[in-house]
Amino acid sequence: MIEKQPIGLAQELDALTGAPAAHRGPRCSVGALLEAADADVAASLRTVLDTTSVSATAIAETLSRYGDAVTAYTVNRHRRRGKPNGCRCER
Ligand SMILES: [Zn+2]
Repeated sequence: MIEKQPIGLAQELDALTGAPAAHRGPRCSVGALLEAADADVAASLRTVLDTTSVSATAIAETLSRYGDAVTAYTVNRHRRRGKPNGCRCER
């Protein structure tokens, strides 16, 4: 027996094609943190993220002590934001 196609499939696929890129994929937790943080915290976080001599592990451990667990993988992915293997946060 052939499964019946949902009537709205074509429209739903079209909607996926037209969806803004920012809404694809899971939310980056580092980006979410930057958005939610106070201005001074966000500024410090941006600075440390741009300081390549600071390891992603150290940043992840520090952030995790103050809120939800953040992994070094997520920090590294955020550092590569905008690149194909990075998160979708804006540069
Ligand atoms: Zn990000």
